[in-house]
Parts: sequence; structure tokens; C-alpha cells
Amino acid sequence: MNDKPLKLPKLLLAEIITHALERDPEECCGILLGRGNTVTQLRRIRNIHESGVNRFKMDPFDVIEAERDARGAGEKFVAIYHSHTYSQGYPSDTDVRNAVQSGWLDLFYVLISLVEKTRPVVRAYRISNDGEVAERFISVLGAGSYTSGSTRPRLVE
Ligand SMILES: [Zn+2]
Repeated sequence: MNDKPLKLPKLLLAEIITHALERDPEECCGILLGRGNTVTQLRRIRNIHESGVNRFKMDPFDVIEAERDARGAGEKFVAIYHSHTYSQGYPSDTDVRNAVQSGWLDLFYVLISLVEKTRPVVRAYRISNDGEVAERFISVLGAGSYTSGSTRPRLVE
């Protein structure tokens, strides 16, 4: 598996957290576009799962639109993000199964946990085709760099 960090502009990290808080208690989801491991754009995707409080299913029309945007900009999907409003920021068994079934294994999976509403935790993972989950660093562009595991994002400086 690719062990490089996910490079995420600080403003987009804030946008992911904003999206998660806006949708709370439902899970939010979205796609991060860019080049290589570097994110340049965020697309919110509608969560159309009927039990959106603990599951997500990306609206296929929104995904097609995001694909079109990526192609138009000479970019690709770098990551898929979604929130866990009542559980830790780690891919669930369902998340892993969905990732393997989708075949999108060259992407990062970004999880936002809102277990502590005032201190959202954002982490990034790679998922392999045999369902192995490995955490990756998030390198925040424009705000120094921190490891996503041991340090919480600090958005107020
Ligand atoms: Zn999940």
C-alpha cells in the first residue's frame, strides 16, 4: 500500500469538519479531488442511505458530477471522506467492505469523528483489497504538519 501522507489544505480540513457538524447527527460524505496525494478541491456528496445516522451511501449523480469536475481540471479522486457521529474515526467493517467492493483502493479514506462535538478528530487511512486498514499521516498544508493519530487538529491558533 502507498504509505505517503495525505496532503490537505487547512481550509479544506476546516470545510470537512464544517460539513460533518452541519449534517450531524447524520453522517456526511464527500470526495476530495486533486493530484497525487495532494488535495485541491472538495465536493460535498449527498448521503442517500436510509439510515444516514450510522451509514452512508454516496448519491451516484453527485459522484458523476465530481468525476466530471475532476476530469475537467485534469485531476482525480484523492480521497473519500465521511463522518462518524457516534463512533470513533476508524473505518467500520461496513466501510471496509464497501471500499473493497467499490474497487476504489487507490484512494485515501478520511474519517471525521464527532464523538466529542467540540473536538472533532480527523484521520486518514488506506484500505487494501484484502480489507487491511492502515492509518496514514495527514499533512496539513498552510498550517504546519501533524500526525493525524496522536494529535488532534487545531483549527484555532
Ligand atoms: Zn463509516
